[in-house]
Amino acid sequence: MYDICIIGGGASGIACAITAARKGLSCIILEKEDKLGKKIYATGNGRCNITNHSFDEDYSTYYNSEYDDYAAFLSKLFETQNPDKEIIDFLYSIGIVTYDINNYVYPHSLQSSSVMWALNDELTELGVKTLLKACALEICTNDGIYIIKTQNEQIEALNVVLACGGASYANLGGSDKGYKLAESLKLQLTDIRPSLCGLVTEEDTNSISGVRVKSKATLFSENGNPICKEEGELQFTDYGISGIMTFNLSGKAGRMISNSEKPYVMIDFLPDISDKAIYSAFEKGKKRKAKAVLNNFINDKLAGFVIDNTNLNAEIYSNNYTEDNISALIYALHIFKLEIKELRDFDNAQVTSGGIALDIINPSDMSIKDMPGLYAVGELTDIDGICGGYNLTYAIISGIRAGKGIYDKIKSD
Ligand SMILES: Cc1cc2nc3c(=O)[nH]c(=O)nc-3n(C[C@H](O)[C@H](O)[C@H](O)COP(=O)(O)OP(=O)(O)OC[C@H]3O[C@@H](n4cnc5c(N)ncnc54)[C@H](O)[C@@H]3O)c2cc1C
Repeated sequence: MYDICIIGGGASGIACAITAARKGLSCIILEKEDKLGKKIYATGNGRCNITNHSFDEDYSTYYNSEYDDYAAFLSKLFETQNPDKEIIDFLYSIGIVTYDINNYVYPHSLQSSSVMWALNDELTELGVKTLLKACALEICTNDGIYIIKTQNEQIEALNVVLACGGASYANLGGSDKGYKLAESLKLQLTDIRPSLCGLVTEEDTNSISGVRVKSKATLFSENGNPICKEEGELQFTDYGISGIMTFNLSGKAGRMISNSEKPYVMIDFLPDISDKAIYSAFEKGKKRKAKAVLNNFINDKLAGFVIDNTNLNAEIYSNNYTEDNISALIYALHIFKLEIKELRDFDNAQVTSGGIALDIINPSDMSIKDMPGLYAVGELTDIDGICGGYNLTYAIISGIRAGKGIYDKIKSD
């Protein structure tokens, strides 16, 4: 019999196992894939953006949840105001030195595989038992002992940690299996949906697919309230918009779409360019086509797209443009509206929103209320972060808290 059976060998499950095993508890990890941490290898484009120095006290800036008071939940979970420091210390404890790029923290090697190598070696050193290709299919209890069944094994443990991750990226282990296990235990779940993904727009963006533009974007609710702002590189695709700034809008956009609202995004393609500079370009470029004049500022395909959408003719010479035409164009360049139809699907979304409801979780140790010995950590729970290392931070710290919490409980029994 084990002290802990951890279901899922991703960031949260591994952090939990290392924390508990360092304190002398016997742990087993069940992982349905053929190796641990498949998602970790893929993070940060293979470089593993593991945390971020930009954290401040208002955690609602970095995370989303259905739970009203999730910022307070995270304050209790993180304990200190420096979750990034805790992650760096944890990495250092397994020998990994970090490297910062504009507040984004990576392993110094800039290789996710270096983190997984160190984690795997630490698990081995600590004697954590790992079963690969072992999918937990059923959890039942008998006399205060948990029995976890896989296709071939039956594991007995005093505590169970659900660390099954979300439904995103099936090829990296994402699935609904964790939610199914939670359902079988009658745990409260919030609706799940893709997050950190592209947004499918009502407007046909096929003609500008592949165009990237530095811009500012604001997400609005159906009734015109600004919800959140992002700045960075917007990427147009054949379905709509993508890129990190779009991903960061997707969490809140998805929540509105689930509530049958129709959000929209307003884009400023030229946040750093004054109206005067655009008027002056038209003045100087009277003998050039309107599209060519705009190409002084933005990608030519995008210039044509904006002009078409302003119901003007991109192919005629600028001296045919009235002052009102130029004003309309300037307006469109600063306030370009794209209506959001839907989110991309789970296989194109880096994380999953929703999951095990925070109402039933104690943030100090991630234990499930009124279910002694049961814990839930990481992406399986109803917290999702924006891009920048916030999801791994949450997964690892929630795993650490569960590992320590179980030790404290066993010690006090
Ligand atoms: C392409 C991509 C890039 C990303 N980049 C970043 C980044 O740079 N920074 C960042 O912070 N976050 C990033 N993320 C998000 C981050 O990877 C996840 O939020 C994080 O890995 C979640 O950790 P977890 O332990 O909760 O879940 P996971 O890492 O998904 O681990 C859960 C594990 O449980 C296993 N499992 C599920 N059900 C069962 C079962 N019934 N029995 C046995 N095993 C089971 C799964 O196979 C999986 O291995 C990225 C995600 C993707 C897909």
